[in-house]
Amino acid sequence: MSTQQRVYRFGVDEHGTDVTEGASSMNYTLGGKGANLAEMARIGLPVPPGFTITCQTCVEYSGANNTWPDGALDEIAQAEDDLERRMGKKLGDPNDPLLVSVRSGAPFSMPGMMDTVLNLGLNDESVQGLIKQTENPRFAWDSYRRFIQMFSNVVLDVDADLFENAITQKKVVAGVRNDSDLSAEDLEELVAEFKEIFSSYVSAEIHPELVVDGEVCFPSDPSLQLRLAIQAVFGSWMNERAILYRKQHAISDDLGTAVNVQVMVFGNKGETSATGVAFTRNPADGTKEFYGDFLVNAQGEDVVAGIRNTEPITDLKKTPGLEEAGAELEQVFVTLENHYRDMCDIEFTIEQGKLWMLQTRVGKRTATAALRIAIEMVEEGLITRDEAVSRIDPSQLDQLLHPQFDTTAKVDILARGLNASPGAAVGKVVFSSDDAVASAEAGEPCILVRWETNPDDLKGMVAAEGILTSHGGKTSHAAVIARGMGTPCVCGVESFRIDAAKKEVRVEGTDTVLHEGDMISIDGAQGIVVLGAVPLVSAELSGDLETILSWADDIRRDASFGHLVGVRANADNPEDAKLSRELGAEAIGLCRTEHMFLGDRKQIIQTFILTDEPDVRQHALADLLSVQTKDFLEMFREMDGKNVIVRLLDPPLHEFLDDPRALEVEIARAEAQGATAEELAPKRALLRRIDGMIESNPMLGLRGVRLSIVFPDLPLMQVRAIASAAATLKAQGLDPRPEIMVPLVSMTTELAQLRSVIERVIDDVERENTVELDIPIGTMIELPRACVTANEIAQHADFFSFGTNDLTQTTFGFSRDDAESKFIPIYLHRHVLESNPFETIDDGVVSLVKMAVDRGRSTNPKLDLGVCGEHGGDPRSIKKLYRAGVDYVSCSPYRVPIARLAAAQAKLSDR
Ligand code: PEP
Ligand code: MG
Repeated sequence: MSTQQRVYRFGVDEHGTDVTEGASSMNYTLGGKGANLAEMARIGLPVPPGFTITCQTCVEYSGANNTWPDGALDEIAQAEDDLERRMGKKLGDPNDPLLVSVRSGAPFSMPGMMDTVLNLGLNDESVQGLIKQTENPRFAWDSYRRFIQMFSNVVLDVDADLFENAITQKKVVAGVRNDSDLSAEDLEELVAEFKEIFSSYVSAEIHPELVVDGEVCFPSDPSLQLRLAIQAVFGSWMNERAILYRKQHAISDDLGTAVNVQVMVFGNKGETSATGVAFTRNPADGTKEFYGDFLVNAQGEDVVAGIRNTEPITDLKKTPGLEEAGAELEQVFVTLENHYRDMCDIEFTIEQGKLWMLQTRVGKRTATAALRIAIEMVEEGLITRDEAVSRIDPSQLDQLLHPQFDTTAKVDILARGLNASPGAAVGKVVFSSDDAVASAEAGEPCILVRWETNPDDLKGMVAAEGILTSHGGKTSHAAVIARGMGTPCVCGVESFRIDAAKKEVRVEGTDTVLHEGDMISIDGAQGIVVLGAVPLVSAELSGDLETILSWADDIRRDASFGHLVGVRANADNPEDAKLSRELGAEAIGLCRTEHMFLGDRKQIIQTFILTDEPDVRQHALADLLSVQTKDFLEMFREMDGKNVIVRLLDPPLHEFLDDPRALEVEIARAEAQGATAEELAPKRALLRRIDGMIESNPMLGLRGVRLSIVFPDLPLMQVRAIASAAATLKAQGLDPRPEIMVPLVSMTTELAQLRSVIERVIDDVERENTVELDIPIGTMIELPRACVTANEIAQHADFFSFGTNDLTQTTFGFSRDDAESKFIPIYLHRHVLESNPFETIDDGVVSLVKMAVDRGRSTNPKLDLGVCGEHGGDPRSIKKLYRAGVDYVSCSPYRVPIARLAAAQAKLSDR
């Protein structure tokens, strides 16, 4: 039998002494909620007592096909007895019953994804006890009906609508509009009806433990209720939406969830009771202010569900009967911030004037808020600059580089709501999650418009460009999820009267009726909705982002620890080069010259490839030389004083030619329309030529350095263009710094031969222009053989740049053009792979990089080593590549800020 502890107590005992066993460091054992409940209890905050069942128990239970591990149920029974003793009350007691909540809590926050059961312990006897204690039969019967409803739905999957319909009918019969107007008698009747619904929808075969006298009955034994509820929470770890959420947030399926069993406190015991969620600072923009919502006389889920419109948290201490608890809560905010040294998010309940803390965690925030909070906390002396830099999630910076409304555009505001998640979005109105998915799949951006979202909407929320709700506060489901995903969101747009069944919205106070497919724009930073498509502009680096990035740069360039790490950009035109500089790139790490042969240049290269006539070919080459020289002049001028690594032509030549299938069709059509053989001869010759160049495996074919060796005219033209452009700029007093890079080298001889040819051309240009050009020559390392023989190759190279896209392709033998659509998703789903190796670099590929770094430096200690594959902009890869010893990463311009931050974090995490 295992000796591991499966249940941990938190809160006080019967003497008021804290008996907490866990702590916030035990996230992976107790889940985030359990670990932080324990921590709050430890630091003396008012936490309703309870116990946490570990995540490992969930993993074992699920792994053994929903069978309890040995001893676990005994430990839970002991914890149940212990809690009853500590509280001096018993579950199910007909005089003074103990009631508990049963909640999930995984190591990483997964808001609303898993199950919760409240008011557990009620049955026909204990409801009487609750009436006696509260002298409030309405409250007691309402709690009981909520329990049956929630338990039936969550634990036994009985359709929630069946209960909602029964409530609606009851309201019709009672002649009232709101649930809160139903009387104690109405609610008592509903309890009986709910139990009947339960009996008719739960199967006796599947749940023999619920059969009493041959009939399925709602369980009255609190211990059975508790066991079933815990099992349901464990089961919810593997529900569809939780799996999807984990996939989205790269959370492992192997962690499991803990279960927290905690004494119930009630926010719905009248006007001196309340419940709410709050943040210690504003999670949308980071302002130092208390932020959140509360509802008087309500239960916790009511706030998040957006069923009633909430009050701002700052009004709590002004609310009659809640003044003291409100002031205490503000004190708790300060205690929590000082303790966690971070912005916290909390859930609380006030029961008849007494404050109880139900949850805290380090709060999720937008990128804008993350920057503001980190900088302000440094100024307050709460954290160091290094900590501030470590705390920003690099991938979140994407949000700040997202588009905003063009300020020069005239916008007519159709409606206003809450600014729940920043960024602007334009799209067609859709009313359901499925329609959002369909719209996105059809390539049509959409805005998901809902009364309020719930966890089942996750797919649609992921697919939509933006989210709009007519209900719910800034801590509603829609707001929290949208902020987490970086999706623009406006919520609580009260003037929107949404009829999802009819797929239309009437906008109160206007004549506007929106239908599915109508175009709208939303700005989640301002909380506004505009009819039609507003032009968007991309954001700039400024203010807080600039500050954090400059701190990150200081860390990257700090020689006192680790090694320096540079950030360059992949850019092949002057506009991108300029943008890269503005975003902080120190150099161009990869200029793919094939991108310079698109548009009207395609014709010239096609002529060069296809002609058999030497004159025509020379002419085409001269034209190419002229346009390439102009290209490089512009690039080097834009990057004056900064290095620009120009890569010689890489792709197979047939990529510049027409699609042979389209050409075949064209010939067949012309033939059918009567074209003569003579007329068709040139096209047929062209087709033969293209067919002759087609390869079965072009990615492993005549490309890269092989092309330069077989057709040396092209690279020579390119080298001449690079050197001539540099010579011209030097003559103008500028400081061009080109470097020449040879792609796809696998053998030393390839590089050695090409290098001498390149050097000869540079010499010629130097002589012709009487100028001295210092142009380093290096190679891409993107084939396994190159890694293995890097010590030899390095003797002919001034630098290496790792092409991790091709290196991933050739190490795995996965086609980079096909694998991601064909089988990688299946590999990910079945856990053959844990992440897509084309996004986050694989450890096997990193080993090859490391081998090449070490071997290369062993023969050429001055070798400059960088990475220019897509991984150069991926934070997780940057960490691994830093450890492998590279000097810089190079990535697309918009990823440069992300890489600057990630590189600093890589250094810090290695310290
Ligand atoms: C690479 O292979 O990683 C690389 C940067 O080159 P390309 O993507 O152009 O093949
Ligand atoms: Mg490559």
